[in-house]
Amino acid sequence: MGLSAARKIEVVTTVAELRARIAEWRAEGLTVGLVPTMGALHEGHMSLFRQAKMMADKVVVSVFVNPTQFGPNEDFDAYPRKLEEDCFKAKMAGASLVFAPAVEDMYPKGNATLVDVTGPIVDCLCGLARPGHFRGVATVVSKLLLMVLPDVAIFGEKDYQQLMVIRRMVTDLAIPVRIEGAPIHREVDGLALSSRNAYLSDSERANANRLYKSLWQAGQDILGGKRVQDALDWVADELVRLGFGRIDYLELRDAETLAEMDRLDRPARLFAAVFMGKTRLIDNLPVEPRPL
Ligand code: AMP
Repeated sequence: MGLSAARKIEVVTTVAELRARIAEWRAEGLTVGLVPTMGALHEGHMSLFRQAKMMADKVVVSVFVNPTQFGPNEDFDAYPRKLEEDCFKAKMAGASLVFAPAVEDMYPKGNATLVDVTGPIVDCLCGLARPGHFRGVATVVSKLLLMVLPDVAIFGEKDYQQLMVIRRMVTDLAIPVRIEGAPIHREVDGLALSSRNAYLSDSERANANRLYKSLWQAGQDILGGKRVQDALDWVADELVRLGFGRIDYLELRDAETLAEMDRLDRPARLFAAVFMGKTRLIDNLPVEPRPL
């Protein structure tokens, strides 16, 4: 086997091929992990593949830019697509199979079923800023879980609200899978890795990490006793000063229920979605009161 063949990972595009391969693994008694992605893979995704590989014998990576989770004025067409590079990265990080379906495979002709998680977990943050987004996410993730039937599926805390929505959905629909969260992977300067960072110009990129830095500072200030609203106001002023654009949200919320919090009396997270130029950046970090 030549070097290039050794580097190749198996890629399947249809549900039938996917199920056939997984059935073979199951017949050998192997466990299966799934990491759903939209491709344009980076080190953040790869950290999820490595985590999955520690938890399961075989790791399936799905690469699918899911149209139903994009709003009409969002970047579905522009979203980066790099399947060949993605396959290489998936293999390097321990995955065994890439599932890269066409839109018609995920949404067969005449499809008429959506999965809609409702209630406080979706009625805030990205659920308000991107109407219909989580319906698209829940729909595609439920399809992927039913196609792969993995033992474990991994989701990044980078999309913390998404992780909570999926946990809710899996509980409510009694889907037999363990959902695991994975920590946010950051550049050395603090910027959370994201496929959308590729949209940033050099000068935007140079300042983009200040989102994390100012959130981190606000977290420290809240832990030090600063009023939550004052800390959030300070971040908003900082972001404007640093050249960020529209702020979709900047909030402290309960780490479990996502209920809004105006003082730190239980484990919380700071959440932000803010534009840098045309690029929408999201980030979040834990703020946990120290035990007395
Ligand atoms: P995406 O391709 O953006 O849909 O992301 C696929 C998965 O990778 C999701 O579970 C994301 O939360 C996760 N992910 C994306 N970026 C990061 C990151 N910087 N650190 C950890 N997980 C991430």
